[in-house]
Amino acid sequence: MLRTFKADLHIHTCLSPCADLNMSPRAIVNRATERGLDVIGISDHNSSENAPAVMKAACNTALRVLPGMEVTSREEVHILAVFDTVDKALRLQEIVYEHLPGENDAESFGLQVVVNEDHDVLGFNRRLLAGATELAVEQVVEHICGLEGLAIAAHVDREAFGIIGQLGFIPAELRLDALELSANLSPAEARRRFPQYAGFAFVRSSDAHFVTDIGKAWTSLLLSEPTTREIRKALHGEDGRRVVAEDG
Ligand SMILES: [Zn+2]
Ligand SMILES: [Zn+2]
Repeated sequence: MLRTFKADLHIHTCLSPCADLNMSPRAIVNRATERGLDVIGISDHNSSENAPAVMKAACNTALRVLPGMEVTSREEVHILAVFDTVDKALRLQEIVYEHLPGENDAESFGLQVVVNEDHDVLGFNRRLLAGATELAVEQVVEHICGLEGLAIAAHVDREAFGIIGQLGFIPAELRLDALELSANLSPAEARRRFPQYAGFAFVRSSDAHFVTDIGKAWTSLLLSEPTTREIRKALHGEDGRRVVAEDG
């Protein structure tokens, strides 16, 4: 049986140097639940180290947490990766870490806090998570697809770090599952602005860096269950699965 799931697939935690330190696993789960979300994606910059803690924090709730990452390509394009399992997310993380030069300067960029589900500090990530990987955008998407994850071009309406702003266009051969709109742009306006990309599904997400932003934008999807396989079908309009609304 199909039903509607309300999804916000782009949420940062206190691991992202630019995110609020109060973005703890339980705060995220509580706020997402309050906002009536059924599915959230955890997407810190170039790392999935806090995704397991958010999944644990959601353990006894109805909220489904999908582990993922927001990868920065060498052209400074942000691509969201969304997986079902921590194992897959950590395999992408391994690839990303092999191609991510530099060390974080916490004074300039912010702390990168690794926590457990109770927000106990387990350590600090020392990599330059705010930096760009050495992977071309095509390679990033290929790696995500190879791990059966969803590959979504993040905030395509934003000049900085959006694929259209950075490259000037979306390469036709890229196997993207969807284009994400920021909370600032309505889907109707996006269709007017980007008629050449009408073949892509649009999703909207909050890109929350603060607890209060969680669920500020979301997408409702008609699915049998909140898995990446079902979400992919909805994004491609297969088997009766579909995007119901990109709202928020
Ligand atoms: Zn981004
Ligand atoms: Zn983001």
